[in-house]
Formats: sequence, structure tokens, C-alpha cells
Amino acid sequence: MSGLKAENKNKRYYRFSTYLKEKFGCRVYKVCVDAGFGCPNRDGKKGAKGCIYCNTAGFTGSAAGEERICEQIKTGMERVRRKYSADKFMVYFQPNTNTYGKISKLKKTYSAVRAFPDVAGIAVGTRPDCINEEILKLLNEFTYDYEVWIEYGLQSIHDKTLEFINRGHSYDDFLDAFNLTRKYKEINICVHVILGLPGENSSDMMDTADEMGRLKPEGIKIHPLHVMKRTRLETIYREGGYWPLSFDDYINTAVGFLERLNPETVIQRLSADCRGGNLLAPGWIKNKNKLLSCINKLMERENRYQGRLYAG
Ligand code: SF4
Repeated sequence: MSGLKAENKNKRYYRFSTYLKEKFGCRVYKVCVDAGFGCPNRDGKKGAKGCIYCNTAGFTGSAAGEERICEQIKTGMERVRRKYSADKFMVYFQPNTNTYGKISKLKKTYSAVRAFPDVAGIAVGTRPDCINEEILKLLNEFTYDYEVWIEYGLQSIHDKTLEFINRGHSYDDFLDAFNLTRKYKEINICVHVILGLPGENSSDMMDTADEMGRLKPEGIKIHPLHVMKRTRLETIYREGGYWPLSFDDYINTAVGFLERLNPETVIQRLSADCRGGNLLAPGWIKNKNKLLSCINKLMERENRYQGRLYAG
């Protein structure tokens, strides 16, 4: 990876679109697929309650079903090609835990991309406690033909937070998964973190940022926590036990986070999506363009950029 070049400091952070253009020389866009996987944090294996903010209907709104993977890839590619004039695609197995199944099922699922010559890569979203050597070997096989990303939901490095939000894994579990994955040099790691988690102050969030700087994953997704209907967070919010970050606080915190990352870590996301009328608060997450524009403006105004406070 080339990272944020000195002459590109005006770009302020290393965008995924820039990375994809550098890597493939054309427009590459993600196509999200719901392969019908479950989640051990919802089905009873980990206690059945799930993360307190989880409402999987808010993720894609697509009908689940492993039988329809090819159809989803096909229609997703058509839609994205029309909307963004995309040339190539990265199939993103997104909702739930996409390594949670028998190895034969995983192989069949990921192999669906082989029917589509314009697919350049795959991204697999999962939990740190749902990975093992066998699955990584399978993903590694795909690196001969595709760009491969594994996306680990972490959210915070603080165990007290992970416990409160009922992630069902610890930070050490994440480190084990991260280090195991690092044995496979061709597999890129993207880490998901959430800003504004209950009980976390700015210093807690910057600890997570510093740690992500130290670990140097190839990519990171940063989300503001938002309250969706039919979640346990909804109850906590309605009882006055949680209030989301304000727009300004999120912008400031996200910029501080970016400053602590290695300049070569690709920023895959700085906003959140919530479809299907599931959003309760904060309303500002719906205006993604304004959010990204304000992050840029703040960075320009104060001459801040990704890696400025990177501890190296
Ligand atoms: S790991 Fe993902 S799918 Fe599972 S309960 Fe948490 S948010 Fe929901």
C-alpha cells in the first residue's frame, strides 16, 4: 500500500476510493450481499441477546438467503454500474457473521463470485471469535485470484465497554484473531470501531485510536453509534441512560481518531447507514455528505491530517 503521500496531504485522509483507484486503475465499488449467515451472539451460543445496538434489518434491507447469492451479486453489480459507472466490483458479505458455518458452506458461498469476471475482490465481515486457521486458509486460496479483505467487528479496545454492549468477546480475543490473520500476508484486515459507545469518553476513544495506530490494519471503518428501533439500546436510550454524540463531537472525535492512525491505513468508512425507518437517534447520521464535508473542512481549517499524531 502506498498510503497518504506527502503531496496529497490536502486529501487529509487515505480514502478507500483512492486506494482502489491506485490498486486497480479503474472504478471499483462494493456490492453488498446477504449470504444468510447467522450470528453466535444472537442464536444462543453466546447468550442469545446480541450486541445492544444490533438490529440486522438496519444493515442492508435485503432478503436473506444463501440460494440467492448469485442473484444478489448480479443485481447489485447492475445497480452499482448504473449509479457510479463502476468497472469492477468487490463483493462484500456483510450482515451477521460471514465465517459462521461449516467450511464447505463457506467455500460454496465465497465461490459464487467466480461466476462473475468483473469481480475483483471479496470482503468478509465477521467477529474476532469466529475465525480459525482452516477458514483463513480458505480465504488465502482466494488471494490468488482476488483482493481479499476480512473485516473484524471490534468497536472498542476496552473490555468494560465490550461487556456493556454485550459483544460476547474480549479485546484479547480480537488480538488473537488479528495475530492469526497476520500469518496470511495477502489477506487485508479491516477493523470496525464505533465512536460514542456508552460510558466512553474522548480519552477512551483515543486509546482505541492509538491502538489501531500501533496495529496498523490495512483498513478501518469508523461509525458513530446510533440508536435503532427494536434494540436493547433503544430501551436504554428511552430510559435516559444513553445519549448519542452530537454532530460536532463526532466530527472532532473522528478527526482525532484519524490523526492517530498510520497514514497507510485506508479509511473505508466514517459514517453510518441505517435504512428502513429503523433510526431513532441521532438524526444527523442521515446526512452523510454533510458529515464527510465537515470532517474535511475541520481538517483543512486546522491543518490536521491522518497520521499527524501517529505514535509510530
Ligand atoms: S456481532 Fe453483529 S450480527 Fe452479531 S449481535 Fe453483534 S451486531 Fe448483531
